[in-house]
Amino acid sequence: MKYAFVTGGSRGIGRAVSIAIARTRMPVVINYAGNHSAAQQTLANIEAEGGRAELLQFDVTHAEAVDAAIEQWQADHPDDHIHTLVNNAGIRDDAMMVFMQNQQWNSVIDTSLGGFFNVTRRLLKDMLTKRGGRIINIVSLSGLKGMPGQTNYSAAKAAVIGATKALAQEVAARKVTVNAVAPGFIATDMTQDLDQDTLKKLVPIGRFGQPEEVAALVSFLASDAAAYITGEVISINGGLYT
Ligand code: NDP
Repeated sequence: MKYAFVTGGSRGIGRAVSIAIARTRMPVVINYAGNHSAAQQTLANIEAEGGRAELLQFDVTHAEAVDAAIEQWQADHPDDHIHTLVNNAGIRDDAMMVFMQNQQWNSVIDTSLGGFFNVTRRLLKDMLTKRGGRIINIVSLSGLKGMPGQTNYSAAKAAVIGATKALAQEVAARKVTVNAVAPGFIATDMTQDLDQDTLKKLVPIGRFGQPEEVAALVSFLASDAAAYITGEVISINGGLYT
């Protein structure tokens, strides 16, 4: 059976993506870092709708932990494979560069860029041998435009955009597509500390986006209908920037 795999699926955009993909009748492996109760809530939401999902906790920044978790999953699922991978796990830790600490730089890069590498290289082989797959990387407006106070986050997301375009060309002949989705301001825990009333005035549509709106786009990119789209970065930002 074909599975989807969503990193950072316990909350926010990853939760909405997990639910949207489960509605397409594809079972979902929900990865998360440490918030068990939030992960359980995503699972419960999916099961309440008659969907299938399972939890797989590991830190995407730890290559050995990623390998161990994926090897175990594959051993437990000899007849199944991951068809759709959504690299969504990400953090922000903002500071003006003059004040930025090593740890702030490294942790943000390690999560978005390192996480993309650690997980994708392990799941790619099955997609190539099965001659089909979808890789969808959640990047950001910050990776396209650059955002002051976010040199770490903007660099991490821009790097994933570069990797998306390179990998798309590597694997296209095997019918594996690789795309990036670049949200603007989306209402999740990650943006809870932002002044939404002020920032929404910058958005032509006049509001923050909802995780479900991003999930609808990701779900489309995961579908058979999106088979001819690859190497693209698709913005979803209420008109803030194109
Ligand atoms: P949230 O903070 O709401 O959720 C983050 C998710 O990532 C959680 O599930 C968390 O797990 C998981 N996670 C964090 N670090 C790790 C790790 N090391 N290993 C495994 N999982 C991890 O974030 P959002 O939903 O807002 O963001 C999701 C993605 O979308 C991120 O890549 C973000 O950069 C991107 N994005 C978000 C925007 C926004 O406005 N919200 C805008 C543009 C891009 P746990 O619950 O266990 O902590």
